[in-house]
Amino acid sequence: MAPKTLQPDSIAVHAGREDLASLGVHALPLDLSSTSPLPDVELGGLSYEVLATGGLPLDGGSNVYARLWNPTVARFEQALARLEHAEEAVAFSSGMAALTATLLAVTHESGKRHVVAVRPLYGGSDHLLASGLLGVDTTFCRPEDVAASVRADTALVIVESPANPTLELVDIRAVAAAAGDVPVLVDNTFATPVLQHPLDLGAALSLHSATKYLGGHGDVVGGVVACDARLASALRRTRAITGSILHPLAAYLLHRGLGTLPVRMRAQQDGARTVAEWLRSRPEVAAVHFPGFPECDPHGLIGTQQSGPGAMIAIELADGYGAAVALTSGVRLFTHAVSLGSVDSLIQHPAALTHRPVQSEAKPSDALVRLSIGLEDPTDLIADLAQAFESGTDAAASVAHDLAYAG
Ligand SMILES: *Cc1c(COP(=O)(O)O)cnc(C)c1O
Repeated sequence: MAPKTLQPDSIAVHAGREDLASLGVHALPLDLSSTSPLPDVELGGLSYEVLATGGLPLDGGSNVYARLWNPTVARFEQALARLEHAEEAVAFSSGMAALTATLLAVTHESGKRHVVAVRPLYGGSDHLLASGLLGVDTTFCRPEDVAASVRADTALVIVESPANPTLELVDIRAVAAAAGDVPVLVDNTFATPVLQHPLDLGAALSLHSATKYLGGHGDVVGGVVACDARLASALRRTRAITGSILHPLAAYLLHRGLGTLPVRMRAQQDGARTVAEWLRSRPEVAAVHFPGFPECDPHGLIGTQQSGPGAMIAIELADGYGAAVALTSGVRLFTHAVSLGSVDSLIQHPAALTHRPVQSEAKPSDALVRLSIGLEDPTDLIADLAQAFESGTDAAASVAHDLAYAG
């Protein structure tokens, strides 16, 4: 096989599996060893040193210990790196572990402690940066203020597009240009490498909560960062020292999920467009945020930066918080739950949940509800939302009543 010439859908199916036939197996091998046999003290010790400092396993060496390196995780990393057009990728126990390791690694490597973060961001990322927990000093800004926010001691610029929870599209090329020499990290969780390649747009790092579309079935928590070999080594070192490697079983499930990622993304995106168009026609909905609508893409980034709108929708309810509460509790086919990107559809209230820890100035509207469209027939999703709107009228009235009495 000549992998470099394959189309993206074929890479998704075959990447990280090139040697399987020579191993005499067809499915991905899963190595759950916590420890590995050492050839001898000398080579064992050398293997340890190489892996703990961010290197790759020595020929004839040992994997030593599963916190340092694991072959099942490495296969998934290779596959994801191919899809992201990156030299390498490093996988973590969650998206937040991936962001934490990135912040620790880039601030340590550069000796700089300032980060510029473009809002809006995922609530957990915003919370981590604002908390000061990692000793990082963060300036939050809007996309157009990146150049003015970068300082001599800036180690990293962080941006998310489409951004959580409003699905705002940010011009990644413009942010990379404004960042100058400072590396840019793009949270590519919503777009996935099926729709967007941040490294081709000038970013140094592309981060995923693999929990979402990469896993795609709501049964894995993981994170991964795609980048060049130098940054990958710094990330592996940080991961080994702080202990945040992805579990091999999670890596196995994520790698298996990559094979269907392009097909899932396109089908979920088609369903999302149908649902978004229907929502736009409803009097209960004051605004529909869907990157596929021209009014949601003022800079024309769909088709240039991101090949399609994705499968996330945010709506603002005309009757505000009470109507949002009624909708999330009135649905039957959608599951009222945080997270996204699964084959089944989810609905949640960002201000109360994913963006609960965010500072008040960055809080989304409490009339906003976020929908992650799955692989159900959109007709059924629309029927579910319609019945929830119908039954919600009474519930909204009662919530409004309760709120009024709560003062
Ligand atoms: C969920 C999410 C994260 C955090 O990932 P976890 O796997 O939950 O730790 C980061 N960024 C975005 C955009 C997310 O949706």
